[in-house]
Amino acid sequence: MPATTKSTTGGLTSAEAARRLRENGPNLLPAAGGTHPVVLLLKQFGHFFAILLWVAAALASVAGMPALSVAIALVVVLNGVFAFAQEYRADRAAQRLRDLMPTRATVRRDGEPRVVDAADLVVGDEVLLQGGDRVCADARVFQVAALAVDESMLSGESVPVHPAADDVVRAGTYVTEGEATVVVTATGAHTRLAGIASLTRDAVRPKSPLALRLHRVVTVVGLIAVAVGVAFYGVAMLLGLDPAEGFLFAVGVTVALVPEGLLPTVTLSLARAAQEMAHRKALVRRLDAVETLGATTFVCTDKTGTLTRNEMAAVRVWTPAGEVSVEGEGYAPTGRVTGGPDALAAVRRAAAGAVRCSPGARAEHRDGRWSPVGDPMEVALHVLAARVGADTSTPEATRFPFDPRRRRSSVADGDGVHVIGAPDAVLPLCAPTPGAREAVAELGARGLRVLAVAWRPGAAVDQADAERDLVLLGVVALQDPPRDDVADSIALCREAGIKLAMITGDHPATARAIAVQTGLLGPDGLVVEGGDLPADDHALGELLDRDGVVVARVTPEDKLRIARALQGRGHVVAMTGDGVNDGPALRAADIGVAMGASGTDVAREAADLVLLDDHFGTIVAAVELGRATFANIRRFLTYHLTDNVAELTPFVFWALSGGSYPLALSVLQVLALDIGTDLLPALALGAEKPNPRTMTGPARTGSLIDRSVLVRAFGVLGPAEALAAMAAFTLVLLAGDWDLGDPVLAATASGTAFTAIVLGQLANAFACRSATTPVKTLRGNRLLVGAVLFELVLLAVFLFVPPLPGLLGGSAPTPLGWALAATTIPVVLLVDAVQKWVRRRLT
Ligand code: ADP
Ligand code: MG
Repeated sequence: MPATTKSTTGGLTSAEAARRLRENGPNLLPAAGGTHPVVLLLKQFGHFFAILLWVAAALASVAGMPALSVAIALVVVLNGVFAFAQEYRADRAAQRLRDLMPTRATVRRDGEPRVVDAADLVVGDEVLLQGGDRVCADARVFQVAALAVDESMLSGESVPVHPAADDVVRAGTYVTEGEATVVVTATGAHTRLAGIASLTRDAVRPKSPLALRLHRVVTVVGLIAVAVGVAFYGVAMLLGLDPAEGFLFAVGVTVALVPEGLLPTVTLSLARAAQEMAHRKALVRRLDAVETLGATTFVCTDKTGTLTRNEMAAVRVWTPAGEVSVEGEGYAPTGRVTGGPDALAAVRRAAAGAVRCSPGARAEHRDGRWSPVGDPMEVALHVLAARVGADTSTPEATRFPFDPRRRRSSVADGDGVHVIGAPDAVLPLCAPTPGAREAVAELGARGLRVLAVAWRPGAAVDQADAERDLVLLGVVALQDPPRDDVADSIALCREAGIKLAMITGDHPATARAIAVQTGLLGPDGLVVEGGDLPADDHALGELLDRDGVVVARVTPEDKLRIARALQGRGHVVAMTGDGVNDGPALRAADIGVAMGASGTDVAREAADLVLLDDHFGTIVAAVELGRATFANIRRFLTYHLTDNVAELTPFVFWALSGGSYPLALSVLQVLALDIGTDLLPALALGAEKPNPRTMTGPARTGSLIDRSVLVRAFGVLGPAEALAAMAAFTLVLLAGDWDLGDPVLAATASGTAFTAIVLGQLANAFACRSATTPVKTLRGNRLLVGAVLFELVLLAVFLFVPPLPGLLGGSAPTPLGWALAATTIPVVLLVDAVQKWVRRRLT
């Protein structure tokens, strides 16, 4: 339903708006305040492992082992507090990320359109809405043009509604089509959305796929731990041991194997990556998108604004009467125009027509330079008109706004109908014009964005009626140069084994030229048009599954099919989108990428990643950080699992010897390792910086715990550390003539084993910094140095500060013990170096 753009009320004055804002407060929903910290803390004591440990503590108490019972309870509490601290930090980080998400509104203030923060809207503000906008306050419709609003998030109704003048639009809904001017009637807590939001505030967030996968890993490991514990108990009973003692072993084994600190460490590591990404202008909307980003194998990118600067300037205009070149600085209204007088007159006419179709845009002189207000392309048309001295009036008109399927827009006013759009969407509506197609092809081939402007006299009853029997006024060619570092980012993707496709609504010639200029068009690249894509998804996937593809003249539906087809080929697809209709494609892609600066709110809501600077390079930076984070998670997994081997080995020796080989570690020592000395180094490994080889070779997709992690932890590092510790233990006992009845000897031997494992873990922390690079060539990670120093302090506390040595059952080693324990360091480092060397040799 079209409507006239009659003059408006002029909106509020900025002084009045400021007064109302002071009086009624900002247009914000009452704070969403996630889970209450106390609830979050309590939750840490009620999950699977916590319950397991509570049961163990209760059993210990019943079995008459109060020290163990208290210790286990202490473990649950300490571990819970630690997990809480990490989750709370992660939660806060996610909240901060949400706050960074731009929500803006175009209002009329002092008679001029102005973009303001949605929080600054006040009652009485005149808001200009267009396709893709999120409605930011409850408002009454004032004027409307073909408006369609998606109210599904308020009403659950998925069919868009078409509000007419005086109808109400609600905060939280989306404009899917058309344009409207609305007057704000309620803001912030007074909107209907606020009422609904307070109802749903406490709704549980669904678990992410990564979280689910990790939970599975942890649960499986936990169940194995319990099973092994039970088996040990069986062995103990068979050996005729005291049930209490058998129980002690069983608990020790279980606790040794359970990866208590793992989940929160992963969450924190993801949150840290998300924050780092936000620094680099990439905003993830779900934490686990960090991991998916790292696994990305195919990036489908937009052209305009992502690969190019989105700084448009009309440089050439073709008309049937001749051509004109235009030069000028940025968006300044002055410039140099070259061309014959006839051509110039025709260009003035075409430019005036183009301006009629883009009434909202203008260039504004601010801080000594001319900046665009509105869509840069439309602003460029205004600038062109000013430079060639064309009429720039925009009288009252009926508008049929641009939509990416039609690829044109039109305007009917007293002077007839003006149409502007992609040449292939406009030329067929025009009387044949000799030379026009050739001009379009020639200008497009230079990488210029080409628009056709056409006209017919008379009035129009509807859009179809408006866009017929046209006369071509001219073809405007706009320059939009590639961004400076796009070529580097594209090269980086190539090196990283990530395939690229440019998916654009633009002309194939323009798209090809930009693809060549940026290096995107690969050696076996391909330029196809959306209309020529195979109808069969399988064939589509086969056609596009190559590097450096350009798909031009696409519709949003094509994008969706392309994402699905590539996923069908096993790709992890990142797809950019900015329009109203890109939502489905963004949701279907593994990583939907929306533009923060220029895109629509609809696209941003559907996306997993928002580029605050619209920049292609930012996607690549985010992928790199995603990969680095994945690698970090594997680093501390290896670290944890290695420790588990060392902790389990004493119990295995004991069980295999039928109980005759003394236990090198007590259960409490195992706990001291797991939640004491191991914690900080694991965290520090999660903060490892991306190494220079992060973007060489294909993504490490698949599971976090794969063969390489298992081999390193269970086959190499774990056994080395375990055997070195057992050797130290054994040698200390031998030096004391194996007098097992001597409690001092037993305590020193056990303290030596404990020290050996702590020192082994110290070396292990450095070994785990890379799965391939030898320790000595790794550059510093200051956090890790700090963590390791802290680890040593804790070791000293456990060994020397009463009553801890007595409780743990391990006292300070003798000088011989120290020497033996210290050998774990070179043993772990040596074994690590040998494995890395062998690995390099094999690959
Ligand atoms: P891109 O992939 O480069 O962002 P779009 O889908 O935005 O391309 O635009 C496709 C084509 O539609 C453009 O090449 C241009 O010819 C035309 N077009 C874009 N915006 C408008 C507009 N506001 N009015 C008329 N035509 C437009
Ligand atoms: Mg676009």
